Amino acid sequence: MNLREFLHSEHTKKSHFVLLGNPVKHSFSPLMHNTAARHYDLKVRYYAIQLEKQEMDLVPEFLDKEQLKGVNLTIPFKYNFLQFTDELDPVSKKIEATNALVKNETGWKGYNTDVYGFSVPLKDYKQKLAEKAAIIFGSGGAAKAVAYALKELGIREVIVVSRTPGNAGEAVRQLADKLVSYQEWSSFTQNVALFVNATPLGMKPHLKKSLVKETETHFLKNTICYDLIYNPSETKFLKQAKEAGAQTINGLDMLVHQGSKLFKLWTGKTFPIRLIKEALSNKIDAKN
Ligand code: NAP
Repeated sequence: MNLREFLHSEHTKKSHFVLLGNPVKHSFSPLMHNTAARHYDLKVRYYAIQLEKQEMDLVPEFLDKEQLKGVNLTIPFKYNFLQFTDELDPVSKKIEATNALVKNETGWKGYNTDVYGFSVPLKDYKQKLAEKAAIIFGSGGAAKAVAYALKELGIREVIVVSRTPGNAGEAVRQLADKLVSYQEWSSFTQNVALFVNATPLGMKPHLKKSLVKETETHFLKNTICYDLIYNPSETKFLKQAKEAGAQTINGLDMLVHQGSKLFKLWTGKTFPIRLIKEALSNKIDAKN
């Protein structure tokens, strides 16, 4: 369903949360949030809506709907909604990206829950990462959240790899210690303890692709390799990492924990994490 169809549907008459993105068909967020809402018997539904670029003029009318209780934003809208917020939390302000809008007395407040979600699985590795460097592939909304989180976790140097480092925005420039190309990154691996894939390479329609060439996989040895992708549960990048002798983390915990923080902001309630992981595990990989 696109936004125009949603606005003309009966769904807008009852309490609802909405995920806006393009595409959104693959998203597991409706499953997570509707499972949590059912668990607490909340009379609210979460819908995933595909927002077309030419529908941006409908956004003010959409945000004015009384029964709209919260908005979740995904690719490629994490930047575009800053203009519709009345207030931003400090993280969203710094990284110029928000994935969560929360309604309060004065209007819409933008939050970034990706930073928190990304950090949770790394808490156990804090010692291994302290004073080390990290390489992030990609320079989009998620990469900025990752760079911010890594600095908070005590990483000394954040190296962002982009296809076009010369075109990177101001926020990435401020967050990255180095901004390099795919031809250059392997020269900066001496102190690297963590590699993060923050690009869509590895998920549909790029299932068989990785940004690490076969001749470069030895750089991954003895590091932690973290792919933000959760479906498939093991991307080509994570397979390369495992074979090279790295520890691997996929994006599932990040997904659950960013959702958990968001659900708390929207409803004041704790995500039933075990129940949600069970629901997700039945879906992951089955779709590929
Ligand atoms: P985004 O804003 O569109 O940024 C993705 C970045 O990846 C782009 O800025 C681009 O950087 C690079 N990129 C895009 N297409 C590429 C290609 N074909 N080859 C190489 N690089 C490419 O998206 P995002 O919101 O940051 O999301 C990135 C990934 O993280 C997605 O796979 C998303 O599903 C995942 N994610 C997961 C979670 C979770 O909870 N697990 C949360 C957020 C995001 P350059 O132009 O600089 O090369």
